[in-house]
Amino acid sequence: MRVLVIGAGPAGARCAVRLAERMPGAEVTLAGAEAALPYDRVALSKLLAGDATIEDLITHPLPMLQSLGIRYRPATPIAALDRAAGEAVTARGERLPYDRLVLATGSTAIRLPFPGADLPGVVLYRDMDDVRAMLRAARSGGRAVVIGGGLLGLEAAVGLAHRGMTVTVVHAVGWPMERQLDPAAGALLTRRLGTRGIRFAMPASTTAIEGEDRARAVLLADGTRIPAELVVMAVGIRPNIALARESGLPTGRAITVDDAMRTADPAVFAIGECAEHAGRCIGLVAPALEQAEVAARAIAGEAAAWAPRADAAALKVSGTAVWSAGEIAPEDAESITLRDEAEERYRRLLLRDGRLIGAVLYGDTADAGFYLDLITTRRSVVGFRSALALGPAFVREAA
Ligand SMILES: Cc1cc2nc3c(=O)[nH]c(=O)nc-3n(C[C@H](O)[C@H](O)[C@H](O)COP(=O)(O)OP(=O)(O)OC[C@H]3O[C@@H](n4cnc5c(N)ncnc54)[C@H](O)[C@@H]3O)c2cc1C
Repeated sequence: MRVLVIGAGPAGARCAVRLAERMPGAEVTLAGAEAALPYDRVALSKLLAGDATIEDLITHPLPMLQSLGIRYRPATPIAALDRAAGEAVTARGERLPYDRLVLATGSTAIRLPFPGADLPGVVLYRDMDDVRAMLRAARSGGRAVVIGGGLLGLEAAVGLAHRGMTVTVVHAVGWPMERQLDPAAGALLTRRLGTRGIRFAMPASTTAIEGEDRARAVLLADGTRIPAELVVMAVGIRPNIALARESGLPTGRAITVDDAMRTADPAVFAIGECAEHAGRCIGLVAPALEQAEVAARAIAGEAAAWAPRADAAALKVSGTAVWSAGEIAPEDAESITLRDEAEERYRRLLLRDGRLIGAVLYGDTADAGFYLDLITTRRSVVGFRSALALGPAFVREAA
C-alpha cells in the first residue's frame, strides 16, 4: 500500500512514523513544504529566546526516517490533489500516487490586512524562517512591536526582549492571553512581564504600519504612534484547507473528519490543525499527535476513534509559570479562588455540578496534572471541595 502524508509538521511526522511501524510492507512518503527536517514547532520560542538551537528542535533526524523506510520529501509543496486518479501533484508538476492520503497541512498565521501589513520588517510567527527573520532584526537591538498578546505573541515578546530589543505588545483585549487566563491572572502576568521591560498597549487596536521602504512605526486607533523596526504579527491562525476544498472534499473552517479522522473520501484522512472534528478545530499539539496515532491505526485497518479532551496550555517563558485548562469563563459556574499577592500566586478553579470544569494557575503550576486529570475524568470533587484549591497533598488528607 502507498501512503502519502502531506505536511511534515508534528502531526504529519508522527503519523508517518506510526504508519511505518504498523505497516512494514507499506510505502510511506512524507512530503512537506518546509526545507527543514521535521521539528518541534512548539519549541520555536526557545530558539527565539536562545534557550535551544535548531539541532535541539529536530524531532525526526534523517537516519531515523530512513531506518523506518519513510521517503522524506522536504521542500515539496503539494499544489493540487487528483482524487479520481489517486495522485497528489507537487508545485513542480510531479505526480505522487497514493492508495491512502493523510492531509496534515496545519495552519498559516494570519496577516491582518491593514495598510503597511506587508512591508519588510513585518513578520509572522509560525515557522523557523519567521524566527530567523526575528533573530536577524534583533541583532541590531532596536524596537519591536508585537501585535497580539496571546500565548504566541507573549512568547515572541519575551524572546525579543531577551535578545535586547525594546518591546511593546499591542493587544485588543484588556488583559493578555484572554483565552487562557481570567483578568486577575492576566494582570499578574502583565506586571511580571513589565519587570522584564515589556510594555503593553491594551485594549488597543492597530490601524496601520507606517513606513515607505520598511516598517517604521505602528499606528493605533487612538492616534498613538509606536516606533518600531520590527513588527511581529501574532493574531491567530487559519487552517490550510485549499487542497481539500479545491478537490471537492467537505470543509468548514477546516477539513471535516469523522472519529477515525477520515474525510468524506474513504481514502483520505486529515489530522492536526487542518482537521475539523465535530465542528471544532484545535490549535494545540497534543490533540494533533493523538489524531496522528488514530489515523495511522485506522489506515492499518485497526479500530480507532479520537475523542476530544480538555484543552490545556502553558506559557513557555522561563521564570513565569502560567497554565490553564478547560472552561475558564463559563457564565454558569461556581469558582474557588486562592490568591497570594506577595508570592504572586493565583489559582482559580471553576466547578459545575460538583465537578471541576476549568482551572487557571499562575505562579505555581506544579499541580496542573492533578487538575487536568479531574477535568478530564469529570470525577466528583464534592467530597474534598474545601481542600481542592490547596492541591493533591491536602486533598488526600481531606478525602
Ligand atoms: C511559536 C509557537 C508556539 C506554540 N506553542 C504551543 C504550545 O505551547 N502548546 C501547544 O499545544 N501548541 C503550541 N503551538 C501550536 C502547535 O505548534 C501546533 O498546534 C502544531 O504544530 C500543529 O501541528 P500540525 O502538524 O497539525 O500543523 P503544522 O505544525 O502547521 O505543520 C503543517 C506542515 O504542513 C506543511 N504544509 C502546509 N501546506 C502544505 C502543502 N500544500 N504541501 C506540503 N506541505 C504543506 C507546512 O509547511 C507545515 O510544515 C505553538 C505554535 C507556534 C508557532
